[in-house]
Amino acid sequence: PMVREHFLPADFKAPKIIAKLSANENPYGPPMSAQKAVAESVKNGNRYAWKEMYDLIDKIAKKEGVTADHIMMGPGSSDLLEKVALVTFMKGGNIVSADPCYMSLVSVAKSVGATWKPVPCTADWSHDLKAMEAAIDKDTKLVYVCNPNNPTGAITKGQDLLDFCSRVSEKVPVFVDEAYIELAVGADTQSMVSLLAQKKNVIIARTFSKIMGMAGIRVGYIAAQPEFLEGINKITRGGMGISYTSIFAASASLDDKDFQGNTRKLNHEAKTYLYENLDKMGYKYIPSYTNFVLFPISIPGKELLGKMTAKGIAVRSFDIQSKPWCRVSIGTMDEMKAFVGALSALS
Ligand code: PLP
Repeated sequence: PMVREHFLPADFKAPKIIAKLSANENPYGPPMSAQKAVAESVKNGNRYAWKEMYDLIDKIAKKEGVTADHIMMGPGSSDLLEKVALVTFMKGGNIVSADPCYMSLVSVAKSVGATWKPVPCTADWSHDLKAMEAAIDKDTKLVYVCNPNNPTGAITKGQDLLDFCSRVSEKVPVFVDEAYIELAVGADTQSMVSLLAQKKNVIIARTFSKIMGMAGIRVGYIAAQPEFLEGINKITRGGMGISYTSIFAASASLDDKDFQGNTRKLNHEAKTYLYENLDKMGYKYIPSYTNFVLFPISIPGKELLGKMTAKGIAVRSFDIQSKPWCRVSIGTMDEMKAFVGALSALS
């Protein structure tokens, strides 16, 4: 693998964190509409929420242009990434993905015995679709695509990915993780959900943790062919982990277009400020279509984490292609100012 992530020692005594820019959260959430929905629905929390969840599924299915049997809900998309990995790789096989990519599904697949076939990204950090297709063999059980990708923030072009998914899913299911797609302002890409109507064997993952600002409230879903979801459901029931209040929060935030638009706008402004300052300091970042930016650094990742944490700034570091990189999430403008201040004091 070409990616290794660093963590601080468990006994590290951190000062108070003033800017948490390490988990790609939305600093503006949860929307007031969702907070109200939680407060109003909590009184019914003695009941299982099956009917209410099916109402939410109907709403999501309508939005995605599919029937309700194409949707499975979970407490965050992680739950569904992991369920798909568990069920798909119970009997081994291999998984093809880009390297680097978001590792949650791949890690679970590996834990239950799958082999990971990593395919390096291209020079512009998009997926090398040709090489990924060539990497598929008779033991490949799933292809995982994350678009926009994490930790790079880069996109793979919509039409290229549509062609790839359309062709490859005839041989093997393609899982497309679209956690950040709503934040991809001006990107030449799109959701792959339209392929479901063409009966393609694709699985699209979406989350309420990013644009909707509900990372701690935990709602996500996958859209896939009903037969694929039945296969998952037979072994590990979808929707069981989602709470009564989360369902109402999700429904309210889906309707809250103002909140989503505002997040997109403020994220873009704070990211532009970050770019300008990284330019000034001579850092070369990967253009990002998400709420985080990845750039190479000149000190070891662990050293950067230590120095930033000492100033109350939480970020992440990765070794990619044997070089250290910093991934900083886009917070509020004030948080980005604190980050820029701390980074410029390093050199
Ligand atoms: N997919 C990607 C690409 C992510 O970056 C994340 C979280 O950061 C997730 C999925 C999981 O998010 P959640 O479980 O909150 O939906």
